[in-house]
Amino acid sequence: MNVLVVGSMAFDSIETPHGRADRVLGGSAAYFALAAAFFAPARIVGVVGEDFPDEHLTALSRSGVDLEGLQRAPGKTFYWHGRYHEDLNVRDTLEVQLNVLEEFVPRLPAGYEDTEYAFLGNMHPAAQLEVLSRLKQPRLVALDTMDHWIHETPEELRKVLERVETVVINDSEARMLSGQQNIVRAARAILKMGPRAVLIKRGEYGVFQFSDAATFVVPAYPLEEVLDPTGAGDSFAGGFMGCLAAADAGSGDALRRAIVYGNVTASFTVEDFGPRRLIALDRTEIDERYRRFVDLTRFHD
Ligand code: AMP
Repeated sequence: MNVLVVGSMAFDSIETPHGRADRVLGGSAAYFALAAAFFAPARIVGVVGEDFPDEHLTALSRSGVDLEGLQRAPGKTFYWHGRYHEDLNVRDTLEVQLNVLEEFVPRLPAGYEDTEYAFLGNMHPAAQLEVLSRLKQPRLVALDTMDHWIHETPEELRKVLERVETVVINDSEARMLSGQQNIVRAARAILKMGPRAVLIKRGEYGVFQFSDAATFVVPAYPLEEVLDPTGAGDSFAGGFMGCLAAADAGSGDALRRAIVYGNVTASFTVEDFGPRRLIALDRTEIDERYRRFVDLTRFHD
């Protein structure tokens, strides 16, 4: 089964206590697709500007990402500049230049309309809805969002939430969206908005999954050195959705396995700046770390 992501394609400038990277490949769609492609054929719907180098397109294609849905528009590529605190769970956005993303209208190539697994990355909810309405018979659609859309376009966001199966969101956004401080209550409130499952990303503390039927809690893979957390959330979502698409199953054990695979895939992303580690990674390394993770969390009662 195929996985589609609609989201940002970016140049990122990143500063962390461990160093910096200038204008490297970034964006939610890039991280998502690179992670998903380890498990299933991945497709991007997004936009880049005239300044976007072929070298990045080649890296994505070589990793197995289909770029037919990637538009090249006149103007500059979206740019994001962020700085992380000593506590890497906290970051400040220093600069955002929307550039070609400002006028972006997602267009799905005809061949993408039958995509079974789709991820509506963080962007205007109207654009998310547009992609959703073009999908003929999706098996699972997940959504990400951020503070900007929660505050600026709450009505439109509500409409998308009513139509998606799963929300993948970080803890501060879950609190903002629900108005609840307690994370369990926040998840329950989001479930009432429509989705059947909520996945809450908690940075170095791992991931919680809530649905009416079950709760599942996964710690992050313990690493001695985290160089750059950028893209961890999107790599998590990519690994998770790719794994579900490969298994073509969305319940019980398959769901839990996909959450752990997403978690493990994201643990590689943060080991280097930008998507460098993800691009150099191979599936065997993911499988090995997955096994180690199973051992780390196993106990007998
Ligand atoms: P994550 O660390 O998983 O939250 O994702 C980081 C990625 O989100 C970076 O590569 C940025 O380029 C991208 N990003 C940051 N701000 C925005 C925004 N306002 N809209 C779309 N993408 C963004």
